[in-house]
Amino acid sequence: MYLKRLELQGFKSFAEKTVLEFMPGITSVIGPNGSGKSNIADAIRWVLGEQSMKELRGGKSVDIIFAGTQSRKSLGFAEVSLIFDNADGKLPVPYEEVTVTRKLYRNGETGYYINKAQCRLKDILELFMDTGIGKDGYSIIGQGKIDEILSNKSEDRRNVFEEAAGIVKYKTRKEESEKKLEHTKLNVLRINDILTEIETNLEPMKLQADKAKKYLDLKQELKNIEVGLFLHNIEKSKEDLSKAEEDMEIMQNTCNLEEGKLEKIKMQKEELKEKMNALMIQIENTQNLGFTSQKDIEALSSEINVTKSKIQNNEENKKRFQEKIEK
Ligand code: ATP
Repeated sequence: MYLKRLELQGFKSFAEKTVLEFMPGITSVIGPNGSGKSNIADAIRWVLGEQSMKELRGGKSVDIIFAGTQSRKSLGFAEVSLIFDNADGKLPVPYEEVTVTRKLYRNGETGYYINKAQCRLKDILELFMDTGIGKDGYSIIGQGKIDEILSNKSEDRRNVFEEAAGIVKYKTRKEESEKKLEHTKLNVLRINDILTEIETNLEPMKLQADKAKKYLDLKQELKNIEVGLFLHNIEKSKEDLSKAEEDMEIMQNTCNLEEGKLEKIKMQKEELKEKMNALMIQIENTQNLGFTSQKDIEALSSEINVTKSKIQNNEENKKRFQEKIEK
């Protein structure tokens, strides 16, 4: 396993995206004072999960974000990625190349990523445990670090050797297990307290349980009765329904019969209507005949009168002529 590449953007003096390629062997970074050499080591420490701002030579966490210069505005975030060649599988992940990334925004939002998948700080720390690369590993020796190690307490020196011996992982797991054990012991104590409390409440709770059992039995009985009643009602409703269906069939038959009768009556009515119309025409004709006969009678009467007066006239002429003849 070796460190292939370091990518920085917005980290301390590295405003632009900067990529440093490391070939196998030794790489030296040289430059004038204050040009940013130590910032590279800080970036590696930071991406590996360093939380101490003292170690990163800053005050607040956002101090690592490019703060701007006279010619360039400050940036809103910092991002650093370390790319490892993992062909030998030293890092316990199934990838030949492993990219570890850390991001920080000025609003405090932060994130860790392994091969672009978001993860926790704990995952990063576990990934590098016992590889000597971790933020506390012996592979990053800052300025004055050797003197610090030599003058430290033997306990602090021991940490460096433990990391080199590859037992930190087991030590960390042991510490975690001890913490869990302590936590479990506290839980057992708490459970014992609860048990004691429960035992005190056992008698009244038994009474309550009896009551609850009785309530449940009665509830079950009520449920059975309700179900029985419901089934009975269903049976009754079924009977009513079949009776109503029978009645409906009878009524339907009666209705069909009455409809037949009504049809007949309608036909009879039509026939009578036709007869009545014929009679009306007959009456009208007879009336017209009556009117004509009346006129004829009146004409004949006046003719009779004329003839009568003619007869009378002739009678008078006859009388006169006879008188004349006699004379
Ligand atoms: P020396 O050789 O003296 O140890 P160096 O090359 O290691 O120096 P660094 O300490 O890495 O230099 O870099 C210091 C420079 O980084 C300073 O110029 C400082 O202004 C700049 N710097 C630090 N933090 C920031 C930041 N947040 N934004 C911009 N520049 C920063």
